[in-house]
Amino acid sequence: MSVNNPRVVINSPSNPFTPSGHIEVAIVGAGASGLSCALHLHDRAIECAVFERDDTPSGSTSLSSGFIPAPCTRLQTRLNINDSVELFVLDIRNKSKGKGNQILERAYASAIGPALDALEMSHGFDWEILDQFLYPGHSVHRMHALPARTGQALMARLMSRAESLGIPVLTKSLVNEIWIQDDKIIGIGIQRANAGREHYSCDSLVLCCNGYAGNSDLVRQYIPEMKDAIFSGHTGNDGSAILWGEELGAELADLGAYQGHGSWAIPHGILMTWALMMHGGLQVNSLGKRFHNETTGYSEAAVEVLKQPGGVAWCVFDEKTYQLACMFPDFQTAIQIGAIKRFTDTASLSDFIDCSQESIEETLGQIQTDLSFNSGLDTHTGRVFTKPILAPYYAVKVTGALFHTQGGLSIDDKARVLRKNGVAFANLFAAGGAARGVSGNAVWGYLSGNGLLSAFAGAYIAACSINEVRR
Ligand SMILES: Cc1cc2nc3c(=O)[nH]c(=O)nc-3n(C[C@H](O)[C@H](O)[C@H](O)COP(=O)(O)OP(=O)(O)OC[C@H]3O[C@@H](n4cnc5c(N)ncnc54)[C@H](O)[C@@H]3O)c2cc1C
Repeated sequence: MSVNNPRVVINSPSNPFTPSGHIEVAIVGAGASGLSCALHLHDRAIECAVFERDDTPSGSTSLSSGFIPAPCTRLQTRLNINDSVELFVLDIRNKSKGKGNQILERAYASAIGPALDALEMSHGFDWEILDQFLYPGHSVHRMHALPARTGQALMARLMSRAESLGIPVLTKSLVNEIWIQDDKIIGIGIQRANAGREHYSCDSLVLCCNGYAGNSDLVRQYIPEMKDAIFSGHTGNDGSAILWGEELGAELADLGAYQGHGSWAIPHGILMTWALMMHGGLQVNSLGKRFHNETTGYSEAAVEVLKQPGGVAWCVFDEKTYQLACMFPDFQTAIQIGAIKRFTDTASLSDFIDCSQESIEETLGQIQTDLSFNSGLDTHTGRVFTKPILAPYYAVKVTGALFHTQGGLSIDDKARVLRKNGVAFANLFAAGGAARGVSGNAVWGYLSGNGLLSAFAGAYIAACSINEVRR
């Protein structure tokens, strides 16, 4: 697929818009937000079509773990998990230190439960709750996933549902033009792979084309600390939404926010679940020393790891933690491809890290000391350990990676894109990574699951808003 050069085109007598067809709602991007928006629109008998640049839709959604936080779902109720929208808002807010957009925090926290319930009831999504451990920053078990627990399975389910309902998902279709007239969206222009250009008029346009993490120029401009980091997301995250936004005079917000990850296994290129850290594991640098509180969050951990010598670290954990992580398909894959090494003693562990044996023994011994004399509290980082790390040891070499950006088009609580003067475009919506998120304006504001939260909640809100306008 060609590199996108998104532009806004004004309909005029000298350059008239000549559509070959009309679609009630045009959706740009077939990831979690685009496809779930299409399903919710279908539930409301609203005609839509999804335009996707790739041959086969995958997006960052298929690269994700597919874990979505939501309070007060039918499943949570069935499992007697005591949660509320207020508690979820509080958790989101605590993580972003109150720097996130409060209107969106509430809108997303309120919409995500109904969004997942609708997918369960109308489309058969058999959600499970990950209740073996709490994700960093979440007060209760609210992380939902499909039984396969992968983003690939989530995408496959969304796609097969769209296909079986006959919702058009037009692949190899790069949307590169938004047409406007009198400040209103009137349609889109598409470049088809191996074919010509096509134009469609639409009543509403929903941008579900994610953020700018795959656009190195924009990364350098807005999040320079990640300019040399590995990008583990989808190449289609090319910043189209914000480039269109700039031309349209839309407000852009929180462009400094993103999801990083502090345990991207190298050279294998696979995610190491942060459950390792939440369940007693730790990270050391090439000197065998710890350098942060690993339980604060995996996103900001990316920056901490990149600051270490060589921009690398080693996750070290014990047998019990290893067994627990085995429930994750990604972890199983990491075992199969040899990313995770096992060591019977500190001599072989230190050889792997290439640090001195004394150093790693001191690091592990310090946990024992903290447990014996300080209730497990490490006063240097503020982390509280609940158990020692005992042989046999496991270790994996990692770096800090960039997963996706959390800044984007400013939207209101109806997912309508806002102009710089605060007035909403009547028929332009944004969901998922195309819109600003709820992580404030920095890496540390990202609460685990904020990515798919904005994708699923934003898509649901956009579909409901379009339905309201239509009535
Ligand atoms: C390794 C990894 C793990 C993650 N794990 C989690 C997790 O467990 N929980 C969580 O909440 N978040 C997670 N995330 C983040 C999550 O994947 C994203 O926030 C989410 O997938 C965004 O969904 P989306 O629909 O906005 O974008 P995407 O899924 O990226 O979909 C956007 C689609 O738009 C298409 N597109 C872009 N521009 C155009 C255009 N001009 N014309 C046509 N098509 C276009 C793209 O090709 C793409 O298919 C993870 C991300 C990564 C990379």
